[in-house]
Amino acid sequence: MSPAQDVLIIGSGINGLSAAALLAVSGKKVLVLESNSVPGGAIRTEQLTVPGFHHDLFAMNLGLFAGGAVMAKLGGELTAHGFNLVPSTKPFCSIFPDGSMIGVEADPAATVRNLAAIAPQDVKAWEELTAKLGLWAPFLIGVLNSDLPSVDAIKTLWKAHRALGTVGLFEMTKLALQSTRSFTDENFVCPKTKALMATWGMHLDFAPDISGGALFSFLEAIGGQLFGMVIGKGGAATLVTALVGVIEANGGEVRCNSRVTQITVDKRRATGVVLASGEIVLARRAVISNVNPRLMPALLPDHVAADPTIKRVEKFQSGLATMMIHLALLDLPPWTAQEAQTYNYVHIGPYIDDMAKTYTDAAAGRLPESPTLVIGQPTVTDPSRAPEGKHVLWVQVRMLPLELADGSKWNDVSEQYADLVMKKIESYAPGLEKLVIARAVLSPADLESYNVNLINGDSLGGSHHPAQFFFLRPVPGWGRHRSPVKDLYLCGAGTWPGGGVSGASGAMAAKILV
Ligand SMILES: Cc1cc2nc3c(=O)[nH]c(=O)nc-3n(C[C@H](O)[C@H](O)[C@H](O)COP(=O)(O)OP(=O)(O)OC[C@H]3O[C@@H](n4cnc5c(N)ncnc54)[C@H](O)[C@@H]3O)c2cc1C
Repeated sequence: MSPAQDVLIIGSGINGLSAAALLAVSGKKVLVLESNSVPGGAIRTEQLTVPGFHHDLFAMNLGLFAGGAVMAKLGGELTAHGFNLVPSTKPFCSIFPDGSMIGVEADPAATVRNLAAIAPQDVKAWEELTAKLGLWAPFLIGVLNSDLPSVDAIKTLWKAHRALGTVGLFEMTKLALQSTRSFTDENFVCPKTKALMATWGMHLDFAPDISGGALFSFLEAIGGQLFGMVIGKGGAATLVTALVGVIEANGGEVRCNSRVTQITVDKRRATGVVLASGEIVLARRAVISNVNPRLMPALLPDHVAADPTIKRVEKFQSGLATMMIHLALLDLPPWTAQEAQTYNYVHIGPYIDDMAKTYTDAAAGRLPESPTLVIGQPTVTDPSRAPEGKHVLWVQVRMLPLELADGSKWNDVSEQYADLVMKKIESYAPGLEKLVIARAVLSPADLESYNVNLINGDSLGGSHHPAQFFFLRPVPGWGRHRSPVKDLYLCGAGTWPGGGVSGASGAMAAKILV
């Protein structure tokens, strides 16, 4: 038996580490138990292809963290532990089969110039939406940073009501329920502008026709101009190293190779954990789980897991799967839309109807013929990630089947499917093939083997469709970062406010215990 801790945290994802750091700084004795040999979960930087090329295996864009509560509180300490952000003045663009592109710059006037060259008829609506985000951002961000339901959230909505009026508040509510197709049809004329916005929905599991997709698309597409994009200098894992540094500097510990096999429960109260090694660690105050909620019943004693309030969480549904292709390159892709070389993200949908079809195919277990791609070019702003003059490319293939309907296994088809993806990119960047020094493919099955939370390669830790979002995340009865077991709290992508490197749910869980 190990010495008792104030708070035990299962899992060292961004939220587990954020909760641990905030609690450690507040004087609590914390221990983070991680099953992998390295901390960070879906944040990991490795020289995966060839030495000298540093790839963010999973998350790359740290914009949510940079603007979030954990950075606001611990920014100084994180910097002291080696975490530095590299901002981008050109966060993202969409490119199209005819060789054209629309780029969103961290400067609304520049973005309007780019838009005017391709879709002059949409400029007015874009400017109106930019002004609207300026008005709405404090309230939207306020709600995203509050537990749901909570007094804080109600206060934010009340302030929104006073500032925007009833109609304004209802308009914001409509945005949270609208699909990206409906939202972009309402605002834009040109299919390229619509696609520019809708690809952001595909970062989560919002195909163009899914209710709720408009919120994230609006925040990211319009917000790109106001907030830009940031990546971690040297790789996203520098954030993990810095958080571990803050935890240790404040008396806490992060222990890897320590898989929790059971959460001990006495009279419906969580009392500690048992590790795969058989070691028991007790928690004086609480256990926080950074484990995908769907995996939680398996960690509870049988008599507790059998309770219907616990079993309910087994119905928490995954989003679709993701595949990553990492490339070491002699040079940046020779995009036909040349200017695309200067952006951190290049999106290829290309159009809303293509994205809708991709989603339908993937949901039915078929490999999409026209994959939706998010192509990260981190070395545009952080050349330290590759040898001089060379580059890494981060290719995220969105919306893939969790399981293949024809019975084949992901690891049997992933290289072949990666060839199809490369062919698609090549059609937008002829000559790319000759620039590839090395390639590494991480299939959905590989993602899950790196991190059990990514069930079947779902990068989101659970679908974000409205039935599992807001106060309904993960399932009714498990909200507000509490489980039905006393003193067993939850954080992570499967809890409000969902996936992404923000640390917000970790901060909310920590706030309950400080
Ligand atoms: C390929 C990919 C690309 C992404 N890109 C971006 C991006 O650019 N920007 C962005 O904001 N977001 C991105 N995301 C999403 C984001 O990375 C995740 O939503 C977020 O990192 C999840 O954090 P988490 O706190 O839920 O924990 P996780 O990252 O899921 O980590 C949980 C940890 O818990 C451990 N664990 C689980 N069970 C146990 C157990 N029983 N005992 C001990 N340890 C356990 C796991 O090993 C894991 O390390 C991406 C995700 C993926 C997969």
